[in-house]
Amino acid sequence: MPETANINYNSFTSNEKLYKTLEALDDRSNLVYEPIGETWEGRPVPYVRVDGGDTDVFYTAQQHGDENHVAEAALQLLRRFAAGGRRVDSILDELTLHVVPRHNPDGWAPADDNETPQRRNGRPDDVCHDGPYFGPNQCGPVDPNRQHYFGIDPDILEAVDGIDPDLIPDENPSPETQAMLDKAEEVGADMVMDFHHQFTLRNDDCELINASTLWPLNEAAPEEAVDLSRQISAYSYQQTKDLGHTTWDTYPGGTTANIARNGHGVRGRGSVLFEFRGQASDLGNASKGRLVTVINTVMNELLEGIGSGELYDVDPADADDIPPRGDYFWKELPRSEWGPEHEAYRE
Ligand SMILES: [Zn+2]
Repeated sequence: MPETANINYNSFTSNEKLYKTLEALDDRSNLVYEPIGETWEGRPVPYVRVDGGDTDVFYTAQQHGDENHVAEAALQLLRRFAAGGRRVDSILDELTLHVVPRHNPDGWAPADDNETPQRRNGRPDDVCHDGPYFGPNQCGPVDPNRQHYFGIDPDILEAVDGIDPDLIPDENPSPETQAMLDKAEEVGADMVMDFHHQFTLRNDDCELINASTLWPLNEAAPEEAVDLSRQISAYSYQQTKDLGHTTWDTYPGGTTANIARNGHGVRGRGSVLFEFRGQASDLGNASKGRLVTVINTVMNELLEGIGSGELYDVDPADADDIPPRGDYFWKELPRSEWGPEHEAYRE
């Protein structure tokens, strides 16, 4: 039976349950839950902090509403940190953890009624703006992961991305993304890891690819930030590639600063994209437990590596050892016949 036989979202955490869970964790642990803003449809943008050492590590998950296992993995991670223990304490000696477990609650909302969740946010169809990256008269929902250029020096954006600074609107069309950018700035984030999903790919051995990664490619990202980002990608790969359930490739991402991975890199942060198998419309809840385990393992390994300092010993050049991009399972389908569900499969 194909894994797509049943698309059922009921086993995932609803928005309501997510907020309640975070409130409960806040009540009974030293984890702090405080919403950092409101979506277009009036939902809180959830943010959690676990106070600790001087290095500020920011995880953001589910910028795209239809990429849900990453939010489940983030919740698992927060439960672990709320429970505490010796290993958690030793990680917290070194770092403070910041987590936005569901960046785009409006995009997820339809799934709470078992309807297809949406990649974009909940901006109403009659709200429009002119923007430098996609031109004039952009109306309705927007992709939160294309709005990370707000606050970067417009002269830099003009020089590296060739955009017209006069077209930068006053308001970010993704209040979710703006809230996250403001919080990252406020806390002085040193590293930002951005967790997503993609459709199913395979490598040359016909193994399923479960994880993809990429670092900033924008020319304005300082070398130091790119090196740290490549250490993060390489460390994740090295720590998990032999576990038997995590097969990696390198994500083929773009260069522009409006994408989170590049935007945070331009701001001088270690900034890494992670893409896991398990797009909602592809898998629904099939393979859920296995995929959440893969993601949660990567999230935990990174914090262990930052806490122990081992991550900083990695040669940034090792990121080139991560295998090249695999093939889509529907590769036999000519590109000209790809539908929006295929094309939409971008970070
Ligand atoms: Zn995504």
